[in-house]
Amino acid sequence: MFLPGCHLRCPYCHNPDLVDLNNSRTADSLNEDFCGFRDFLSRRAELLGGVVFSGGEALLHPLLPELIGLVEDVGLPVKLDTAGLLPDALAPYLDKGRLNYVAMDLKTQPDRYSELGWKGSGDNSAGTLLKRTMSLLADSGIPYEIRTTVVPPLVDETVLRNLAQLTAEVPRWVWQPYQRGNTLNPDWSSLIAPNEDDLRILANDFGRIPEIIIR
Ligand code: SF4
Repeated sequence: MFLPGCHLRCPYCHNPDLVDLNNSRTADSLNEDFCGFRDFLSRRAELLGGVVFSGGEALLHPLLPELIGLVEDVGLPVKLDTAGLLPDALAPYLDKGRLNYVAMDLKTQPDRYSELGWKGSGDNSAGTLLKRTMSLLADSGIPYEIRTTVVPPLVDETVLRNLAQLTAEVPRWVWQPYQRGNTLNPDWSSLIAPNEDDLRILANDFGRIPEIIIR
């Protein structure tokens, strides 16, 4: 389920309609999200293997606890996608065992998150928040992965090599080659997608165990 609202502005974002927080917080739209999802689950739960809450940044959605509750009620597993900048919001879900899997994006080097619209500094710097989230995930015992969209010039070989230090202890690091499409910043829509074979060769060169997954 794609939940509206995001605190980042990744230029390559393929969900530009979902990022605006101001357009997504009316009582009507929240009620619509809840009722639409409840109706969907009542019709399709038996056909589903689980539910993914994505975004936007799903942790910003005020009804996320209730939406997860609906999934728990029908006994399906829950996966959460997050950009990893809200460790305080994530922690209660981990503590209470309400998530079965988490995918956290590591979008570029933390010192380049200003290029994604992140303005926090000090305790709210991207580096501090991302490390806190990764530490929470590592301690939680819940299966998780770190995902990086490979999208030069934001993420090139140099950036990946720098991120390798941050992800050294992570059980699963996934590289996702950028896919062309409708983007938040139209200038990024015509970028050439990285070649998957080249990425595999680079990933092998990292010699990481467990190895990097290209997806
Ligand atoms: S790519 Fe994800 S984190 Fe970035 S702006 Fe889009 S929804 Fe937000």
